[in-house]
Amino acid sequence: MFRIQNYLNGRLVPPQSGRYLDNVDPATGQVYGQLPDSGPEDVAAAVAAAEAALPAWGALPAEDRGRLLVRIADLIDRNLERLARAESQDNGKPLALARAMDIPRAASNFHFFGTAAQHFATEAHVQAGVAVNYTVRHPVGVVGCISPWNLPLYLFTWKIAPALAVGCCVVAKPSEITPATAFLLSELCIEAGLPPGVLNVVHGTGPGCGQAIVEHPGVKAISFTGGTATGRHLAATAAPLFKKLSLELGGKNPNLVFADCDLAAAVATGLRSSFANQGQICLCGSRIFIERPIYEAFKAEFLTQLKDQKIGDPLDAGTKQGALVSEAHLNNVLAYIQLAHDEGGTLLAGGHRATVPGRCADGYFLEPTVFENLPFDCRTNQEEIFGPVVTLTPFDTEAEALKMANSTEYGLSATIWTRDLQRAHRVAHALHSGVVWVNTWLHRDLRTPFGGMKNSGVGREGGLEALRFFTEAQNVCVKL
Ligand code: NDP
Repeated sequence: MFRIQNYLNGRLVPPQSGRYLDNVDPATGQVYGQLPDSGPEDVAAAVAAAEAALPAWGALPAEDRGRLLVRIADLIDRNLERLARAESQDNGKPLALARAMDIPRAASNFHFFGTAAQHFATEAHVQAGVAVNYTVRHPVGVVGCISPWNLPLYLFTWKIAPALAVGCCVVAKPSEITPATAFLLSELCIEAGLPPGVLNVVHGTGPGCGQAIVEHPGVKAISFTGGTATGRHLAATAAPLFKKLSLELGGKNPNLVFADCDLAAAVATGLRSSFANQGQICLCGSRIFIERPIYEAFKAEFLTQLKDQKIGDPLDAGTKQGALVSEAHLNNVLAYIQLAHDEGGTLLAGGHRATVPGRCADGYFLEPTVFENLPFDCRTNQEEIFGPVVTLTPFDTEAEALKMANSTEYGLSATIWTRDLQRAHRVAHALHSGVVWVNTWLHRDLRTPFGGMKNSGVGREGGLEALRFFTEAQNVCVKL
């Protein structure tokens, strides 16, 4: 059985309590490994190791830190197949997706931030003949990075890499539901020669282990990606301790399809943005608003192409949709499907648990599900479902589309489909979303600010924003 260990002070060690949790393969429903059930004592040891490593790591030239991070990126690339298989088994996602997206993007994170920190300049403010002010950016210190289960290694490294690049030392916790690739990353960090204590990975539950990271006085900043309710709890814990906080939270993203769009592209990408990773991407577009003249055409083509969305064993090359991450999450999503029925929705496709014969007979599979005829302000259209469930809604005017799109408590991302350049800009600026795509989806450039408005988060990650978050700005004023 695959037994994961904590990565503390450069070594792989068991939890101090000796307690372990089971790790389930969602495609088979079987326990296939164990992970440490760490507690505050393990977190305290991790923070002590990080504090001890901090002075030397922070004092290294950015180029030397960057060289190590690029080495880790290269090792991720070299271990692509092993990491992709681990990610697929842990999460239920198609192996092909882990190979094409999750793992390459994890390598890119280390590569990008390892080199970006070398180009990170600070400002100077000159008062001619009077004084010069310049900004020094110090590493914040020991920071906590807490990530979710949907894009496990991708989001884990998205936080860790910029923190390490600017000279912080890290105590990180992946989701207990998907710990495997964070463990494999620990092995790669040892192989790369990362100094002991610079990165520490503590495995365990949110309340038992994550909470201890947030509460620890030695942890100066928290970068968190996860649900809005957890984020709210974290903020309440961290705010009185005056910790820096970056919160990347939930979404209920609109997809606005105007009648002048490239319909084929809108449908093909709309399918991907609805069902990629079983709809378990915070950026998935779960509410599709379609201008009335093309509503029926869009719907017909969407439902036709949906038939190619093959559900199957994540290891099979032809599988487009794998298993949901856990039985509890599957039941959550099924409850939302029942709610959509109760709210009067018309089921157009899916709606049931799916069975995949053979080794995956007990896996947590769900048919891609489409509803229409639901009011924009009902719970199905307002709450984050985080599964393969989308709604189709017609609109008549741009103002109506914007009203419905902006009506939720969330504001993470949105997609616009139109050939009208002016409308694209106008609508983009009027959307209450931190990220807007026009005629595309999930197109990422690591230099851009990433994050949500409203209850989708606080702060921005990515590019310079991440480097700023993990540093403290200090102004030095010199009289001339
Ligand atoms: P959760 O909020 O349940 O968990 C996220 C992480 O927080 C996990 O590592 C979890 O541990 C940990 N955690 C839970 N409770 C605490 C606590 N009290 N103190 C510290 N840490 C804690 O989210 P999910 O894992 O269910 O992820 C899905 C959510 O993440 C969705 O809402 C999705 O929209 C959001 N998300 C947002 C993204 C963005 O960029 N805005 C990107 C991806 C996802 P454990 O799992 O071990 O309990």
